[in-house]
Amino acid sequence: AKEQGRNTYQFYTEGMQDREVMRLELDKDLNHALANDEFVLYFQPQLDLNDSSINSVEALIRWQHPRRGLLPPVDFIPLAEESGRITDIGRWVVMAACRQLAKWQKGPYSHLRIAVNLSGRELDDESIVDHIQEALESNGVPASRLEVELTEEIFIQNIEHNLNQLTKLHKLGVHLAIDDFGVGYSSLGYLRDFPVDLLKIDRSFITDVTERHDDAVITRAVINLAHNLGIQVVAEGVETHEQLTFLKNHRCDLIQGYLISRPIPAGELERALSAGL
Ligand code: C2E
Ligand code: CA
Ligand code: CA
Ligand code: CA
Repeated sequence: AKEQGRNTYQFYTEGMQDREVMRLELDKDLNHALANDEFVLYFQPQLDLNDSSINSVEALIRWQHPRRGLLPPVDFIPLAEESGRITDIGRWVVMAACRQLAKWQKGPYSHLRIAVNLSGRELDDESIVDHIQEALESNGVPASRLEVELTEEIFIQNIEHNLNQLTKLHKLGVHLAIDDFGVGYSSLGYLRDFPVDLLKIDRSFITDVTERHDDAVITRAVINLAHNLGIQVVAEGVETHEQLTFLKNHRCDLIQGYLISRPIPAGELERALSAGL
């Protein structure tokens, strides 16, 4: 994480020699951003390959920075993880997603589910489950409209705590997805112990899935493994028709990627959906 940090915070390193000063500055700005509502959720649709419908979207955070423009998560999430500010950002994300679901509930998009990303650090927070429940209730949104994406790190550290947290969330009716599947270092045994609804195959397997035999073999194996466990599969980073055809032929359930749409603001998503995306 330290190594990655060097180019990640490039905006904040300009003229700031001292990494510590830079970190403090960014953290102050993040706190200010929360108070001033500078974050925004973009949404990327997932296409259901069975009937070509769109029933779910992933929420991806952006920071509308007053001086530096629209910043992607890589520019601020890693540091927010280190400083612990991620806890507050995660709460904002959950609330913003529930507010959006409440808006959609009244119109033609009432069937849409939103998937939010939660890091292991966010799951450490004992009260996150209560916060999610409150966000759903105060917005009058059924828990089944919300999905939580977690990476395999949650199977490696704090396992007992994480299992407890996720069991509670699942009992509420929130769907659970394992993000970036296949690149973590966790054991498959956890698929047996945790209440997992979806596996998202990491983009690194999909990119060359139609050219590389080994990626094709792994992708097919993950789809079969998941299906035999009663888990649905999402392929991430689908950019070509050839990839779509391969995934459809091998009974992948859902695809997500630039081929369908980039992540876009809610208004743009609504226009795209009503135009028949
Ligand atoms: P992720 O959860 O794996 O999200 C997928 C990333 O891949 C997104 O980048 C998305 O824009 C990008 N992507 C989607 N389709 C394609 C494609 O076809 N080709 C390529 N090349 N890329 C594609 P983004 O939005 O920059 O997010 C990066 C990461 O930041 C996310 O990876 C996630 O780990 C994290 N993140 C985003 N939003 C949140 C959040 O609200 N909370 C937390 N904790 N992390 C977040
Ligand atoms: Ca994700
Ligand atoms: Ca992912
Ligand atoms: Ca990722």
